[in-house]
Amino acid sequence: MARPDNVITLARLLPTAQQGGYAVGSFSPRYPRMILPILRAAQALASPAIVQISQKDLSRCGVDLEAFARAFYDTVASEGVSVPLTLHLDHTHDLDIIGRAIGASFTSVMIDASDRPLDENIAVTAAVVEQGHAVGVSVEGEIGTLGAYAFSETDESSSSTLTDPEEAERFARESGVDALAVSIGTMHGVRDGATVALDIERLTAIRRVTDVPLVLHGGSGVPAAAMAAAVGIAGGGVSKVNLATDLELAMLAAIGSSRRLTDSDIEALDAAGLAAARAAVERVTREKMTSFLFSAGRAERLRSQ
Ligand SMILES: [Zn+2]
Repeated sequence: MARPDNVITLARLLPTAQQGGYAVGSFSPRYPRMILPILRAAQALASPAIVQISQKDLSRCGVDLEAFARAFYDTVASEGVSVPLTLHLDHTHDLDIIGRAIGASFTSVMIDASDRPLDENIAVTAAVVEQGHAVGVSVEGEIGTLGAYAFSETDESSSSTLTDPEEAERFARESGVDALAVSIGTMHGVRDGATVALDIERLTAIRRVTDVPLVLHGGSGVPAAAMAAAVGIAGGGVSKVNLATDLELAMLAAIGSSRRLTDSDIEALDAAGLAAARAAVERVTREKMTSFLFSAGRAERLRSQ
């Protein structure tokens, strides 16, 4: 697939955000048809954006990986989207799926071996970094584990292990990752009514020992003030924030569904249902870009670097 100039890797996208005091949203549309509203929001607000799908979502939602990539590139072309974008494979354990994503022109992949002992996590991640970098694809790794609530995009257990700063430094250095997901208090999914406290002290300690761009998973439900603190630490804080559940819940509310949907359900929506679903996803994406990530208006500066 021909890759337009504005579809880039995390290695190009994130350092500018890290230095510029904002974060780029890594949005999970979950279904190919929900890619459009994310890209429309990005283009309208002149915001960089990452579009992602995880291994679990591919199977749970019944989405074909190659069809997802095609939908992304077709939408970029048909909508004339020119802001900086990354097509990213989120949480993946299976090396075959990573290979397929690289073949389908994803510009970034995440190898999640965070459930393994540190040495194994480093070895597995370093091998994917070598594979990705050979063909110009960036790689995200994870150290520490995030627990999960309902509606999450991973299979991870319900308990968390926070990231140890010294281990993070060693992991980043030895694996060579372009971005590092850290566990500082968020969980996947959204807790009803509860506020999420971020361990800013731990994040600051991690930043003191490594320059690698840092990723916050489970961004849904994090209060804006906590997010601002996580982005704003000395040396640059979190520069990629994964957002999945907030988009999905807004979409389900817009179409009055009380259950999670598969890709076939989305394909079967009538025109009014599809429009309502897309409008909800675009609204939430715009809100995140404007008052949560502060990425709105940052596209031009990044493109001209
Ligand atoms: Zn995650």
